[in-house]
Amino acid sequence: MRAGYGAVVAGLGGALPRLANASPLASDLLASGASPADAEKSPTAERKAGWAIVGLGKYATQQIIPAFADSKRSKLVALVSGSPDKARALADQNGVDPKNVYSYQNFDAIRDNPAVDIVYIILPNSLHAEYTVRGAKAGKHIISEKPMATSVKDCQTMIDACQAANRKLMIGYRAQYEPFNLKAIEMARGKQLGTLKLITADHGRHLDPGDPADQWRMKKDLAGGGSLMDIGIYNLNAARYLTGEEPIELSAMLHSTPGDPRFREVEENASFTLRFPSGVIANCTSSYSYQDVKRYRVFGTDAWLDLDPATEYYEHRMKIGHKDRQEEIKIKEESQFARQMDHFSECVLDNKPVKTPGEEGLRDVRLMMAIYEAARTGKTVKLS
Ligand code: NDP
Repeated sequence: MRAGYGAVVAGLGGALPRLANASPLASDLLASGASPADAEKSPTAERKAGWAIVGLGKYATQQIIPAFADSKRSKLVALVSGSPDKARALADQNGVDPKNVYSYQNFDAIRDNPAVDIVYIILPNSLHAEYTVRGAKAGKHIISEKPMATSVKDCQTMIDACQAANRKLMIGYRAQYEPFNLKAIEMARGKQLGTLKLITADHGRHLDPGDPADQWRMKKDLAGGGSLMDIGIYNLNAARYLTGEEPIELSAMLHSTPGDPRFREVEENASFTLRFPSGVIANCTSSYSYQDVKRYRVFGTDAWLDLDPATEYYEHRMKIGHKDRQEEIKIKEESQFARQMDHFSECVLDNKPVKTPGEEGLRDVRLMMAIYEAARTGKTVKLS
């Protein structure tokens, strides 16, 4: 049975119990038989946070679940799925206790499971809000996949729900934990390319109606939009993290091939331009008809930096173009998925601030709504 819109995503008020005084992982130790005093004084350094994955689709099963093997502070302890056979088989393969397998209907019972500290929502976009609210109400810390939600209102509801429950909220912006992108940020913001002038960024892939993971991507109520919401968001997020600035105005155009049934509800192509306060302009495109393009180029007065692919799962390639030569920058590849998960585990275990919190996801969703508005009206949108 599929996750639906059953649960209320409306405001939670202030009625939820405050959990601030509980040591984040005291529950873990208590469940393992330690006394409350042991749980409070034990160092967190060797502990691993317990994770529940909600939605066992392509990304969850092919990238995230395998990445627990590379993680130092995160362990998979629970699964939530509408497909009981798949969930049972995955639990068996990954050493998850069968009693920690939940359906969407009994998901809320996760509140009684002290082994689960973090809930990772990897569902179709419009369902992120509902499961964030339910997970926070169950007293769990939440990480939601990108895009955070399909409306600004839902993003705010997610932030409010986690705040009311005193739980942390992170958005799965894996590129911000990936070593090549971190190097690009260091070089771009550190003036190693001179003064930044322009960014171009392109993300595209072929939307395949034969792929089960692309079924919901063709439906506006589940996806929220087309190539922009799904992969154009990588351009937007990159333009913001490379400059370290927020755009002050934008313009946009959309196009979908007439008569193509894939694009009855969602856009095929999006092109948008952002202007940043420093004067940097970012020209970005996304498409559901390119073949696997995931790149950006940053132009400074002294050099350009090319990351192509920039947001691949593995095997990134960075080139720097100087006036008289080009060089390739080699960096050790590391699992960005494990790094992302370990960051959040560390935030929960050691009560640290989250690098990509809900507010970061909200910014992108707000900007994507402005991009749709600019495309609809044909007018530049000024941003405050
Ligand atoms: P899939 O369709 O492969 O997986 C989604 C899973 O959600 C399904 O397998 C199903 O799992 C569950 N589900 C529950 N309700 C529904 C429903 N109504 N319709 C369809 N599925 C439902 O999608 P992806 O894994 O590709 O994407 C999931 C999320 O992850 C999206 O938000 C996407 O943007 C994000 N993503 C992020 C990536 C990144 O690099 N950061 C890469 C790819 C995706 P079950 O059978 O267990 O119930």
